[in-house]
Amino acid sequence: MVADASSIDRTDDPRRSVPRTDVVLADPRLVERADRLGRDRVKSVVADVQHEVRAGRLDRDDLVGAVLERLPEHASSQRPVLNATGVVLHTNLGRAPLSPQAVEAVVAASGTTDVELDLATGRRSQRGRATLAALRRAVPDAGDVHVVNNGAAALLLAAAVLAAGREVVVSRGELVEIGDGFRLPELIEAAGARLREVGTTNRTTIEDYAGALGPDTAFVLKVHPSNFVMSGFTAGVGVEALTALPVPVVVDIGSGLLAPEPLLPDEPDAATALRAGGSLVTASGDKLLGGPQAGLLLGEAGIIDRLRRHPVARALRVDKLTLAALEATLGGAPTPTRVALHADPVDLRARATGLADRLQAEGVPAEPVESDGVVGGGGAPGVLLPGSAVALSEHLAAPLRTGVTAVLGRVERGRLLLDLRCVPAERDTDLLNAVLDAARRAG
Ligand SMILES: *Cc1c(COP(=O)(O)O)cnc(C)c1O
Repeated sequence: MVADASSIDRTDDPRRSVPRTDVVLADPRLVERADRLGRDRVKSVVADVQHEVRAGRLDRDDLVGAVLERLPEHASSQRPVLNATGVVLHTNLGRAPLSPQAVEAVVAASGTTDVELDLATGRRSQRGRATLAALRRAVPDAGDVHVVNNGAAALLLAAAVLAAGREVVVSRGELVEIGDGFRLPELIEAAGARLREVGTTNRTTIEDYAGALGPDTAFVLKVHPSNFVMSGFTAGVGVEALTALPVPVVVDIGSGLLAPEPLLPDEPDAATALRAGGSLVTASGDKLLGGPQAGLLLGEAGIIDRLRRHPVARALRVDKLTLAALEATLGGAPTPTRVALHADPVDLRARATGLADRLQAEGVPAEPVESDGVVGGGGAPGVLLPGSAVALSEHLAAPLRTGVTAVLGRVERGRLLLDLRCVPAERDTDLLNAVLDAARRAG
């Protein structure tokens, strides 16, 4: 026989008089949590905790408190983090933060939408047509465009469609690892293409490329080494020179710059690569473009059409949230990435001084210092972005990461630096309060 709650309630041991589930769930604090997390989730934790009360491991008066403690505050466990690292595109923090316009678009797109419907005629329409139109407008040099899940997917699709069973010619100096163990050569081979490596690590010439071409060559791949710089005795071949070869040139620019960025003169962009004669450009959406994770494909209309129709394209398709965020990003309002990149060093200094003064006034040792930001894994390796930080005791690093407002700084030479480049100016008060709270908790 299964003992039900009411029969247990009737026992004499007060420890064993466990409040009934519906009574517990009616507690306003749990009602509120159930609204956010779903009733089933709360109910299953209530059952666990009731079991502990029944077993005498917990006082019945602590039941609701224990349930609350075991439940997360929000349905998603991802927590917002203030990026005080000075790294504009921080991979571990999710790369580019979305602009307010893109956030609004994501929220609007999260319900049922006309993503694949023409409301005027009531008929099916091309998925994400407005986003693709925005991308075409942003890069008029592209014959056509397509969007997939990320930069790696863009390259995978290009290799699968254009080079399956054939050869992709690439310089040994450009066989890069993107990060976290993902290597471009392995990606190309996973698409069923063979790699034909040419040149050496530090030098590759046009003759190296020309000598490797044959009937099996599908295309020459030009990869931007976006996370390291090579200096010294080096030579590479630019896109324009490569287009003299009798095969298509596919250019993986990585960063997602659609047009030249004067602040980053060595960073390749889509328009320049296409004007130089590249047949196809692949890029990420969440690097310097400052949008959602996405893979952009821009190039000759005939190639884009083949990519779009290939069965693999369906497996790499982006969702409507991405389409919405990307369209809003392409709308042109300055992205947080752009704002951080172009932050004025004089403003950064003033903010660092102001914050340090207010912290000092509260008894927390703090000092404004010069601090170089970087673009990060998203591009422009080796470029330093002069700015300012507030220097604090290193011991505040952990309490700042785990505070109500999570803050990630940079520990350098025994001090914790909070670089203000990527902290929106309107969050300075939140940052101040986070430091005060961390200092209190650190004791
Ligand atoms: C970042 C990068 C990729 C991978 O793009 P994801 O969007 O991370 O998949 C590929 N190639 C280059 C040159 C890159 O910089």
